[in-house]
Amino acid sequence: MAPKAGGDSAKVNSSVYKNKSKPADVRLSNINAAKAVSDAIRTSLGPRGMDKMIQAANGEVTITNDGATILKQMSVIHPAAKMLVELSRAQDIEAGDGTTSVVVIAGALLDAAEKLLQKGIHPTVISDGFHKALQMALQVVEGMSTPVDLSDEVALLNAAATSLNSKVVSQHSSILAPIAVQAICAVMDPIPGGVGARVDLRDVKVIERIGGTVEDTELIQGLVIPHRSANVNGPHRIEKAKVGLIQFCISPPKTDMDHNVIVSDYAAMDRVLKEERQYILNIVKQIKKAGCNVLLVQKSILRDALSDLAVHFLDKIKTMVIKDIEREDIEFVCKTLGCRPIASLDHFTAENLVNVDLVEEVNEPAGRYIKMTGCSNGGRTVSVLVRGTSGAVVAEAARSLHDALCVVRCVARRPALLPGGGAPEAAASAALARAAIAAPGADHYCLRAFADALEVVPSTLAENAGLNPIETVTELRAAHATGAAGCGSGVNVRRGRVTDMRHEHVLQPLHVTASALGLATETVRAILKIDDIVNTMN
Ligand code: ADP
Ligand code: MG
Repeated sequence: MAPKAGGDSAKVNSSVYKNKSKPADVRLSNINAAKAVSDAIRTSLGPRGMDKMIQAANGEVTITNDGATILKQMSVIHPAAKMLVELSRAQDIEAGDGTTSVVVIAGALLDAAEKLLQKGIHPTVISDGFHKALQMALQVVEGMSTPVDLSDEVALLNAAATSLNSKVVSQHSSILAPIAVQAICAVMDPIPGGVGARVDLRDVKVIERIGGTVEDTELIQGLVIPHRSANVNGPHRIEKAKVGLIQFCISPPKTDMDHNVIVSDYAAMDRVLKEERQYILNIVKQIKKAGCNVLLVQKSILRDALSDLAVHFLDKIKTMVIKDIEREDIEFVCKTLGCRPIASLDHFTAENLVNVDLVEEVNEPAGRYIKMTGCSNGGRTVSVLVRGTSGAVVAEAARSLHDALCVVRCVARRPALLPGGGAPEAAASAALARAAIAAPGADHYCLRAFADALEVVPSTLAENAGLNPIETVTELRAAHATGAAGCGSGVNVRRGRVTDMRHEHVLQPLHVTASALGLATETVRAILKIDDIVNTMN
């Protein structure tokens, strides 16, 4: 029943809140649901983290270590748990890496908040306290970061390798890390007069191909089209090509509506066929006249983009034709080749074609693909051909490469690096613990709780590496106790003890850590402020 206006609605409200413990129950249930999500992916954190095998309803299997991917595929019902899934996605969009860390930190903060609530501290006070703690933590991590020069490839390589080290394909990081760095450096656009550079990840096209191993992954300065040419008997290799990209079809036109043409005598039938032949011939003649020898055709959903007759004629004039260029790829193709798409036959002229040094159809056991290199007047884009022995491996390699690309992009955007292995979290935790001592009232508890929560990163890294988390965290706490900004002590999972991560070259972008801390705190504050879940009527 819908609540009536005035006195009645007041009655409804008072009856809802007669039960004073309801907001607390709702909050507790939200916290527990969200913590469950965080616990589910805790074991995946770090280079010694475990992988997850995800089985979809259709039987498809994904093996991954990436937090965002795991959570995206998990079926989560509780609305608060969904907020953590969103949190991981937000981190993926903002930074591209740190998607497991952000959820693990949020889980620890929720745990801390729960204990504070039990002490009787009001949720708003906790929320404000966490906000203050976040500001301090961000200051500490910024203070311990070291600026990098974007021409310093070694620093970029270290950051990319750190991100790849915690992936399923970590043994191939020596191949994938340089590819990620080269790709981003090739498309990087320095901000004039400012720090850092702009990077549009759409300029790096990652193409997945089954066949070969991940070691065979290659970077191509040019365009790769992952299917064969449409020719039956045409050329497979053209040097000094003249390429045209068309958005119209070379096949008999069709009306938008369903139509029937009834042909009652054979002379008329002949005329229809002759017309069609003439129509196609006319288009092909124009293509030949313009001097085009490689033709790219946009995919058409209304009709076949190329009729058999068109292929026959194009074979005859020795023009390579590649059909089914997806509509969303047109922008990338145009930027790579430096051409404009040609929307009608009238504009198919020599000046709308572009020169490409070499177009070839590469024949591999796993299938054929087209490779165009030497696009002299093209824009700055690159293609990466990721290979692997099976679909699952290729997909995970591509996802890991995406993380590495994002990491290099983060450094380009904000050129500063932090030591990894939980060092920034441990330093922030130590600083907050010191600040808590002098803080008055509830802030004391909030800062203290926030400080303890941050230790979840080093402690989980240690736990996943088979070390004793308590011993490791205590050792780490001692190392950071002096509060020296240059201290880069973190959990060295390879040696099994606490060492300076800068010496180990385990570096990660400041932007990833800062964004993870910021987003996790924001989500926890949002969850704390919820005191009721209202379902809609339908
Ligand atoms: P995320 O999805 O959050 O990036 P990862 O599984 O990639 O999760 O783990 C990232 C964490 O692992 C970071 O805290 C990073 O500092 C740490 N890490 C990465 N490589 C190493 C290493 N070689 N030694 C210690 N810690 C590492
Ligand atoms: Mg990572």
